[in-house]
Amino acid sequence: MTTAPSSPAKTAQPEIEPEPKSALERVLLVVFVVVPFLAVLAAVPLAWAAGWLGWVDVAIFAVFYIVSGLGVTVGFHRYFTHGSFKAKRPLRIALGLAGSLSLEMTIIDWVATHRRHHKYSDAAGDPHSPWRFGNDWKALTKGLFFAHVGWLFSNERTNRKRYAPDLVADRDIEPMHRHFTWLVAASMLLPPLIGGLVTWSWFGALTAFFWASLVRVSLLHHVTWSINSVCHVFGEKQFTVRDKSRNVWWLAIPSFGESWHNLHHADPTCARHGALRGQLDPSARVIRWFEKLGWAYDVRWPSEQRLASKRVS
Ligand SMILES: [Zn+2]
Ligand SMILES: [Zn+2]
Repeated sequence: MTTAPSSPAKTAQPEIEPEPKSALERVLLVVFVVVPFLAVLAAVPLAWAAGWLGWVDVAIFAVFYIVSGLGVTVGFHRYFTHGSFKAKRPLRIALGLAGSLSLEMTIIDWVATHRRHHKYSDAAGDPHSPWRFGNDWKALTKGLFFAHVGWLFSNERTNRKRYAPDLVADRDIEPMHRHFTWLVAASMLLPPLIGGLVTWSWFGALTAFFWASLVRVSLLHHVTWSINSVCHVFGEKQFTVRDKSRNVWWLAIPSFGESWHNLHHADPTCARHGALRGQLDPSARVIRWFEKLGWAYDVRWPSEQRLASKRVS
């Protein structure tokens, strides 16, 4: 008697795993999300006039916004999630560290969540679709809030081993996930350290902490979240997609080109999201610099034919 060879048992990983959040964690989320953002609006003109915001703060803010922002767009998103180019090891590590400074999520959770977003975009299973509750204005208002920030309060998260097994097994990257707390501390404490040393004052450290740590993180969060909320509702449809992703021009500069989100969903591995004439894409420019320096290679640049085949007719 012969027996059929048994197929290796599939270790099917579930889509999501439980992660109950305590009341304190929910309160902290609200505090980190709402308070700094409201503070920006109210404080900028007052602070400048009062001398509580100066050029040193602006410079540290800009450096940390650009480094952590490009860490997310070039690193977490275009490189780690979608593999739109290959990177030499030092660049790979630098991109992982820079993106972690954004405090958006650990690198593994960010990539896992975003890969699930692409798999189910605007359908059941999408972690943050604004269309989750329906199409009428009330459902969409609720959905926009959910897609922007509400989804972060979920008691579930995307399964890491299922959606980011490459990073879970990566000995350079996995420690950035495990020791995320230290990267959070670095992102919060480096600006006041620099501000304090440059101005040689505790006051300089304090203002740098406020502007270049708190305000900078808050602003980048809202810009990133806007890709999930605004860019799946408003804007132009220029390419054929099965979801509601759209191109939003006014977010192109603060989001470093990520708001050309319609093309991105039409062609997720493309290294350039702003691929049409006049569409500014600073992240693509930086990838081009990395390519010229020899740090990045096998970059998936868009071709005329490929773009044309995806254009809305
Ligand atoms: Zn999307
Ligand atoms: Zn993506």
